[in-house]
Amino acid sequence: MGYFYTFACSSCPHTESVKTGRSYFDKSKGLRKQALKGTYGEKIQQEMEAHPEYVLDQEKCLYVCSCGCWINEFKKNILSANPLETDDFKVVKQNRHVCPECGKVMRMVKEKEIMDLKLRCPDCKKEMHAEPDACGFCD
Ligand SMILES: [Zn+2]
Ligand SMILES: [Zn+2]
Repeated sequence: MGYFYTFACSSCPHTESVKTGRSYFDKSKGLRKQALKGTYGEKIQQEMEAHPEYVLDQEKCLYVCSCGCWINEFKKNILSANPLETDDFKVVKQNRHVCPECGKVMRMVKEKEIMDLKLRCPDCKKEMHAEPDACGFCD
């Protein structure tokens, strides 16, 4: 139910794995628990407390910022039903991802763009590229 990508740095041995999509092994009820603890901020916590039927979207995406920062995070949109159990779910509230370094709103990268993307290496700050042999589909 998703894809995995391996990015390798062009100038040091660093590699990073990026995952996208939803995993059946990672129920969104777990994310709901985290949200109730305040892991995803006060607003999401309050929303979850007020609505026991809400879950958090556990679809993982890649987000990039114009400053070069990137994160591989859950969408964290608030949904009115679990998309793993029903097709009939509604996005109640979209949550934007803010860059942890500069505070700008990050852009979600489309699946078909990921292979051509250059990500900043967390070790040496040079470019990392996707390795076509180490990318693919996963359950
Ligand atoms: Zn590097
Ligand atoms: Zn930034």
